[in-house]
Amino acid sequence: MTRELVDSGSVLRSVDPVYGAEVARYPVATRDEVVAAVDGARRGRIEWAGLPATERRRELLRWKRLLHTRRAEILALLTRENGKVGADAEIELTLTLHHLDWAARNAGRVLRSRRVSSGLLMVNQASRIERQPCGVIGVIGPWNYPMYTPMGSISYALAAGNAVVFKPSEYTPAIGQWLADTFVTATGRAGVFTVVHGPGATGAQLCRAGVDKLAFTGSAPTGRKVMAACAESLTPVLMELGGKDAAIVAEDADLQRAARAVLWGATMNSGQSCAGVERVYVVAAVAERFLEALAEAARAVQAGRDWGPVTMPGQLATITRHIESALADGGTALVGGPESVRAPYVDAVVLVDVPQDSAAIREETFGPVVTVNRVPDLDTAIAAANAVDYGLGAVVFSKRHGASIAQRLEVGMVSVNDVISYGAVPALPFGGHGGSGFGRIHGEAGLFEFTTPKSTTHRRFHLPVEISAHNRRRRDEWALTAISRLVGMR
Ligand code: NDP
Repeated sequence: MTRELVDSGSVLRSVDPVYGAEVARYPVATRDEVVAAVDGARRGRIEWAGLPATERRRELLRWKRLLHTRRAEILALLTRENGKVGADAEIELTLTLHHLDWAARNAGRVLRSRRVSSGLLMVNQASRIERQPCGVIGVIGPWNYPMYTPMGSISYALAAGNAVVFKPSEYTPAIGQWLADTFVTATGRAGVFTVVHGPGATGAQLCRAGVDKLAFTGSAPTGRKVMAACAESLTPVLMELGGKDAAIVAEDADLQRAARAVLWGATMNSGQSCAGVERVYVVAAVAERFLEALAEAARAVQAGRDWGPVTMPGQLATITRHIESALADGGTALVGGPESVRAPYVDAVVLVDVPQDSAAIREETFGPVVTVNRVPDLDTAIAAANAVDYGLGAVVFSKRHGASIAQRLEVGMVSVNDVISYGAVPALPFGGHGGSGFGRIHGEAGLFEFTTPKSTTHRRFHLPVEISAHNRRRRDEWALTAISRLVGMR
């Protein structure tokens, strides 16, 4: 099914990924409209930022309760516009509510201004750090988790006192619009959370429209373009990019549990998860038993029932290319193969012993496909897991060595004996490094991300030694040297 997303350059249409029926249409925002949205947000943020933290919390919790009350609407939309099956939609909504709740309840505490020690040299000063909202945050989001992912930025940015202008993916505009509309209904506030619609070019315009920070979630190639556009005005960026997450299965793992969790992590949401499991390294001593359990679990599930269609038709070609090149490079198909791609669905595919330089190991597949490589020991597994450009999340299955293996993985997040659990813990920062980007959403770090620290010193009393003046006496300089020595020797 091909989609015509932009009609005659001015109207954005989203369609049901299974049936192709139109779901929604919106005018594409012009450059002037994008700038006007940012200007409107700059006005809207003044009152929002000036509210006491308790009032922002009250309004955000009212919004959360409205999202909950109207859950049937958004669950249906997640299925129609994004293709999610019921369970995947329910998980996305639950996670969204969980994070919004945490951000609303904790922003006041986390961002409270605090006193810090002034140190020996400035002992006569009272020193404080205040966290101030950045201002207007531009949010550009992907289509794979069209609510949970952008809300990882939006909830935390709003809770920190910013206004937000959001450009949803052109594949899921109605979901983005629904979020903004419900915010206005719950709070009665215009200009605090608004949406602009359009294709990638509209995102590029948002980068150049005078936002104070740009929070981007999407692929690494687009992330580079966003950074380049934001660099023109030195606009700071948050980059939540793709992943190629590995699971390590140690000799002492619960193999049945590991197989079920790997399968779910690889196939839920049709495998379209930045932190989904795409590679497995299993220690040879238990590889046969693990593969047997994984194959049995994979043969029992089915696309169209356990997960939905591939949302973006163009992705089917990438999935097919990865499967075919893995087989051509010497891998074998334990479950499924190229025939598993039956547009718009893809059934589970398990590929075994795929060479490390194959596309299925190095590039994001973004489909329900997982590679499993047998390795002689844990050191080899860890080295192979780390040997890709991405560094988002990872998974470890081991009864005794989970923590020590996790420590050696070069990623931002690790789940031990489970998959992607960190994404459902609001207090934990979410993000990666290397090709997976930088900066963090969620948790305290996610609130800090949307504020800037302001440092203040307040001179309380005179010291016998005057430092910040030109008319220093001889003894002031001796005292300064004495303090310097004291600090140096400590
Ligand atoms: P894309 O990078 O294709 O698009 C992301 C967003 O950027 C979309 O809204 C897109 O608009 C917009 N965009 C496209 N071109 C530009 C441009 N030149 N300037 C500004 N914005 C632009 O990613 P996908 O939507 O395909 O999402 C999938 C990717 O997102 C995967 O790599 C996945 O791993 C990653 N992701 C990362 C997460 C994380 O937290 N680390 C979470 C979820 C997904 P349009 O859609 O209209 O083209």
